[in-house]
Amino acid sequence: MSGCVFCGILDGKLPASMVHEDEVCVAFMDIQPVNPGHVLVVPRTHASSLADLEPTMGGHIFQVAQRLAVALRDVASTPGTGVRCEGVNLFVADGEVAGQEVFHVHLHVIPRFAGDGFGFRFGPGYGVQPPRGELDRLAARIHRELWATA
Ligand SMILES: [Zn+2]
Repeated sequence: MSGCVFCGILDGKLPASMVHEDEVCVAFMDIQPVNPGHVLVVPRTHASSLADLEPTMGGHIFQVAQRLAVALRDVASTPGTGVRCEGVNLFVADGEVAGQEVFHVHLHVIPRFAGDGFGFRFGPGYGVQPPRGELDRLAARIHRELWATA
């Protein structure tokens, strides 16, 4: 899609530091890493949101991210790489309010270490456990929607 930075990388018009390429997706270094070793897994087909992404493609990018998470731990265990990886976050920002900046679906693979300063900030309602009836009501409603769109 024209104007899309990730499509520009996929078309070879913009530079990227490639980590992985296959027929379905690519993975490259984030140019604004949360921590050294931060990789983005990007489907070859443009989809601006998860709703537009072919589910099998979503499964595939998760599999690649899973392998990258293992690879990052191995890289971090090698002295001199500059990568510290005591844990990993896989993260998708779907929508602007969720922090999405490039509107071509991508899965972040973020190496984490104690004291790296990154984290989630929770809203004021966090920590309050809703009554079971409320959880059951929402579960049923979401379940219905899930199968309505399948
Ligand atoms: Zn794109």
